[in-house]
Amino acid sequence: MPPFLHETRTCRVRLENGCWADLPGELDRLGVSRILVVTTPRGSDAAADLVEALGAGVAGVFDRAKVHVPSDTAEAALGEAQQAGADVLVAPGGGSAIGVAKAVAMETALPIVALPTTYSGSEMTSVWGITGEDGKRTGRSAAAAPRVVLYDPSRTLSLPPRLSALSGMNAVAHAVEALYAPDRSPLSCLLAEEGIRTMARFLPRVVDDPVDVEARTGALCGAHLCGWALDLTSMGLQHKLAHVIGGSLHLPHALVHAILLPHVVAYNEGAAPEAMDRIAGALEGERAAPALFELNRTLGITDTLEDLGLTPGDLDRAAEMAVRQSYPNPARVHRVGVQRLLQDAWEGRRPC
Ligand code: NAD
Repeated sequence: MPPFLHETRTCRVRLENGCWADLPGELDRLGVSRILVVTTPRGSDAAADLVEALGAGVAGVFDRAKVHVPSDTAEAALGEAQQAGADVLVAPGGGSAIGVAKAVAMETALPIVALPTTYSGSEMTSVWGITGEDGKRTGRSAAAAPRVVLYDPSRTLSLPPRLSALSGMNAVAHAVEALYAPDRSPLSCLLAEEGIRTMARFLPRVVDDPVDVEARTGALCGAHLCGWALDLTSMGLQHKLAHVIGGSLHLPHALVHAILLPHVVAYNEGAAPEAMDRIAGALEGERAAPALFELNRTLGITDTLEDLGLTPGDLDRAAEMAVRQSYPNPARVHRVGVQRLLQDAWEGRRPC
């Protein structure tokens, strides 16, 4: 374990079946009363009863949140918040809804109450992202971090098995990279390892039986742990490649993460032995990379980069972009190695 510096920020987190019903009490605790609900078009149907229950407290509903937070979407949501005179942002949904709320909070310092319905873990982080014409910019800001997180398993039963599996593997990718991050701490490693273990235990059950409330509860707990680990650490090659491929080629973020993860872990294997042991142990496998590949298969994720329509030329461009920037990664990032990694992910080869 390297020397570490750990900072704690305040976030009130509750996980309990039915806890969204206590949202009015949570808003009272924050001393706020003019709510802007921020969600995706699909989320607005799911949140309709919530909006009804909040009654006159709802000053506006912005239901056009989109994945990767396009800058015009962020601006439109900011306009709604200002027009409504909102003093709080309530975001039911996944990383897309919460991401748009974060973009508004950065401009307004309004508190966010996150009501997560996927497993990608964004609710636990101060990480923001906004996509403009020049690609996706990301950063960290205390203003973007939700102040309250309410995990209500009963509100996640409608999340389709495929989206459950993919957003869950996105969370596992956070935890994997947290385990070899240069700024890891004893706490972040515990969160990450337990997050992977919890996801591996409950995600397959969610996929088999989407209305298994106990499995949904476990998967939300896994998302909480993995997201928190992401908040405490810097991400490496996995997140850089997912960003480059997902952002520049407009491919589904979580699926790109899931496809890449076993191959990035194979790439880093020799340079992060302690992390690899912890990942393999959490997955009850002998080695981390094949165990992650098997977890994908168990969840029905058999896709390859070729299935996503990437061409060999795209792989070259992605490798070039990934080596052009600098970021922490246990193994040295070099073009030939990254190209080989991407080729394996393109073919869907099992890491050996
Ligand atoms: P998402 O929010 O994009 O949701 C995926 C789809 O599922 C959407 O159509 C949504 O409407 C639908 N959905 C959500 N909950 C549902 C439910 N209960 N029932 C039915 N449908 C439901 O998915 P995501 O994977 O959570 O988020 C992806 C975005 O989050 C990306 O932009 C990614 O970059 C970002 N992200 C950010 C962080 C961070 O810390 N900032 C972390 C992880 C992901």
